[in-house]
Amino acid sequence: MSETKYVYSFGDGQADGEASMKPLLGGKGANLAEMSRIGLPVPAGFTITTEVCTYFYDNDRQYPPELKAQVEEAIAKAEACMGAKFGDSENPLLLSCRSGARESMPGMMDTVLNIGINETVVNALIKQAGAEHFAWDSYRRLIQMYGDVVLGLKPESKNDPDHFEDILDKAREAAGVDHEKDLTVDTLKDIVTQFKAVIKNETGKDFPDDPMEQLWGCIGAVFGSWGNDRAVVYRRQYGIPHSWGTATNVQAMVFGNLGDDCATGVGLTRDCSVGRPGFCGDYLINAQGEDVVAGTRTPKRIEETLAQDAPEAHAQLDNIGKTLEQHYKEVQDIEFTVQRGKVWMLQTRNAKRTGFAAVRIAVDLVNEGLIDKKTALEKRRIPADDLNQLLQPIFDPTAKAAAEKEEKLLAKGINAGPGAATGQIVFHASDAEEQWNADNDKQLILVRKETSPEDLRGMKVAKGILTAFGGASSHAALVSRQMGKTCVCGCSALNIDYEAGTLTVGSTVLKEGDWISIDGFSGEVFAGKIDTSPSEVMEVLTGKKSVDESETYQRYAQLMSWADEFRTLNVRANTESHDAEVSVQLGAEGVGLCRTEHMFFDHLDEIREMIFSKTQEDRAKALAKLLNFQRDDFTHLFKTMGDRPVTIRLLDPPLHEFLSEHHLHDDPTLAGKLAATFGVTEEDVKRRVEELVETNPMLGHRGCRLGIVYPEITAMQARAILEAACNLKKDGIDCHPEIMVPLAGYKTEFENQAKVIRDTAATVFAEQGVEVDFMVGTMIEVPRAALTAGEIAEGAEFFSFGTNDLTQTCLGMSRDDYKGFIGYYMENDIVPADPFQTVDQTGVGRLMKIGVEDGRATRENLKIGICGEHGGDPKSVYFCHEIGLNYVSCSPRRIPIARLAAAQAAVEASK
Ligand code: PEP
Ligand code: MG
Repeated sequence: MSETKYVYSFGDGQADGEASMKPLLGGKGANLAEMSRIGLPVPAGFTITTEVCTYFYDNDRQYPPELKAQVEEAIAKAEACMGAKFGDSENPLLLSCRSGARESMPGMMDTVLNIGINETVVNALIKQAGAEHFAWDSYRRLIQMYGDVVLGLKPESKNDPDHFEDILDKAREAAGVDHEKDLTVDTLKDIVTQFKAVIKNETGKDFPDDPMEQLWGCIGAVFGSWGNDRAVVYRRQYGIPHSWGTATNVQAMVFGNLGDDCATGVGLTRDCSVGRPGFCGDYLINAQGEDVVAGTRTPKRIEETLAQDAPEAHAQLDNIGKTLEQHYKEVQDIEFTVQRGKVWMLQTRNAKRTGFAAVRIAVDLVNEGLIDKKTALEKRRIPADDLNQLLQPIFDPTAKAAAEKEEKLLAKGINAGPGAATGQIVFHASDAEEQWNADNDKQLILVRKETSPEDLRGMKVAKGILTAFGGASSHAALVSRQMGKTCVCGCSALNIDYEAGTLTVGSTVLKEGDWISIDGFSGEVFAGKIDTSPSEVMEVLTGKKSVDESETYQRYAQLMSWADEFRTLNVRANTESHDAEVSVQLGAEGVGLCRTEHMFFDHLDEIREMIFSKTQEDRAKALAKLLNFQRDDFTHLFKTMGDRPVTIRLLDPPLHEFLSEHHLHDDPTLAGKLAATFGVTEEDVKRRVEELVETNPMLGHRGCRLGIVYPEITAMQARAILEAACNLKKDGIDCHPEIMVPLAGYKTEFENQAKVIRDTAATVFAEQGVEVDFMVGTMIEVPRAALTAGEIAEGAEFFSFGTNDLTQTCLGMSRDDYKGFIGYYMENDIVPADPFQTVDQTGVGRLMKIGVEDGRATRENLKIGICGEHGGDPKSVYFCHEIGLNYVSCSPRRIPIARLAAAQAAVEASK
């Protein structure tokens, strides 16, 4: 039996792997191989496969026995390509060790650089490179990274000591310099000694001298970092399976810190913040890779100064950028090093981008002829949820102008994540999380010198992120863009004092909790709160701006027209009267759910009169008053929707929604007794009691059960709907009401209500002398309805899945009371996603499939939709497409997202 290949080499125009091998080689490894194949300059190296990661976790952190020999063979190949030897005392090769999962997880896992240095090698490096400072600095970097990453000395919380940084801070302070590049060689040597002492003190072991021991330590740390907390949190957030594992890439070092003809940088083949074409990015002359990403020095911009600083390198990069876009047909995010004037490629991957950039880039690439419309719609290019950003508020221009006039503008940084955010200052991610957990409505701006992956949880809950250091490719910028958060970074005018909890700019001092506002389009930072205003797309849609004034709108419209061309699912709105117009502007093709009870909330007196009616006659009198209001509401809704279908659900919630009682406590002395027993105050007892309150699912006298017991309610609603429709028909407007019965589980329930509706229709049509085309259907929102869909479809002319109730009844989980544990469930992988946001495909989804199959077995062309909240969730939309629904219906703002998701489902299915 031949042995498994665990190690794939690349370099010198050749490679064992290629771009399609991401599952095995990870994104970075597969693309290093691909770049090598297409002749781009890649330092030689090898990738250890994700299978080794899986083995590592399945076998108590051991490796497959054949790995060692394969790694040694691959090192020999890399040595031959690079003309140097790992650990050699004359001509040493240094290696880097980097993680690389199938999907990129920026900054979540570990990297170690400069592997293979000891006292002998450092002297060889001095001779070889002719740069003593560089050699000692590389050595101190290795010990620091090895200590942090392999030996776990990196501080985990704000209170842990950062031994290495403390030593560096002291050395910089003593020398009066800002950066270690300006320290003397003697100081660096002394730092190396101190770093080694830290390792000995903290771990009881010496820093290893043997290059191979160093390398295996690093490989173990990289595989180990797949399981660290931040990587796990990230995977959960982005739905990356824990079972994938990471690959480990070991690669020859090239140096951007050998002198002023060297540089290191990260770049994008086009801007990924707003999507503008043209190579751009950050670089630092005479620096090593992590200096750019860590945000410890504010880098220069490639598009602004690289052509002057390093014209040759600039030209090489420009060509590489073009080759990459032509080859990958996608915007690339690259890492490179310039060593003595020559550009080396360390990574390329499809670039993460904001929703703004995603739309612009996809549309531009089609218009440039690189891709076709169908490709532009792929979900990996524009995650449907990201469209949200185009529909997001920006600062209200008047409020912003007022803030400028009042001289509230504090500073300007880099506009790294578009949008406008206003909130209260918080300096630590853990505090942000805590404050937000206590109050989900709290608006927070996370203000940091720079962010690191440990800040992820805090970034998630903040409205915006503001940093003092770091460029447009810093951690803060990348992660914010991906999360669709407003972000301003590299705002060097900010003086942040974590201990004092202050942010100082000139003479202005802001404290933790003070309001601050950031503009992610311009990079501006303002003291105080600034009101936000609607998005440009919304402005055009609502007629406040003309199409010509907004390029963003023009691209949005182009993309939406392609989505509409490819999708097969229709998209409707869940709306009553007031936002029906906006639904149409956003592309609604009908109303999938008009919740008639929402119309009642404006007429509480009349509905309460009905509730107090003792006789059927009294009830009829009260209902007659409601009839007028309802008819007007429906007339308005039908007029707005024109000839689009409108599904109107009959009264659903229990009557206590309109009249609730305050429950009396059984024992008014209980709070006092408990307070004395547990040594707490009565207030504490009351608070705890409040926390424990649960609202159990309303499954009592509601839905069609109301209409069955009080048929006159159904008759009144049917009359209001049909009279409105008849009146409009006389005015030449043809509308198509779809009257929907809520919460039916028995065929008999549906039939009872259908008869009331049809009898009413016959009367109304006779009275009016005109007939309208209408349908009677039902919601499928209890498991019994799904399971007996075949019977129900005998009478029902359409179905609409009410997945809010169907989820709570299928799961036995109250939709109003699951917040207390669902966070824990998701964090601990008990459930893959919030089942009230994304359809639980295995459970609720199975009921839906049965409903569709059995319903259509009875009535072949049965029209079926979904009107639960899931109708606007991209993953659920894909599922609805798969099981053959006719439409999804969602809240108005999510309509464009649903349209795009529906197109993506169709595009995916056509592959
Ligand atoms: C549902 O249950 O999914 C539904 C749309 O109805 P409601 O949310 O009004 O109960
Ligand atoms: Mg419901």
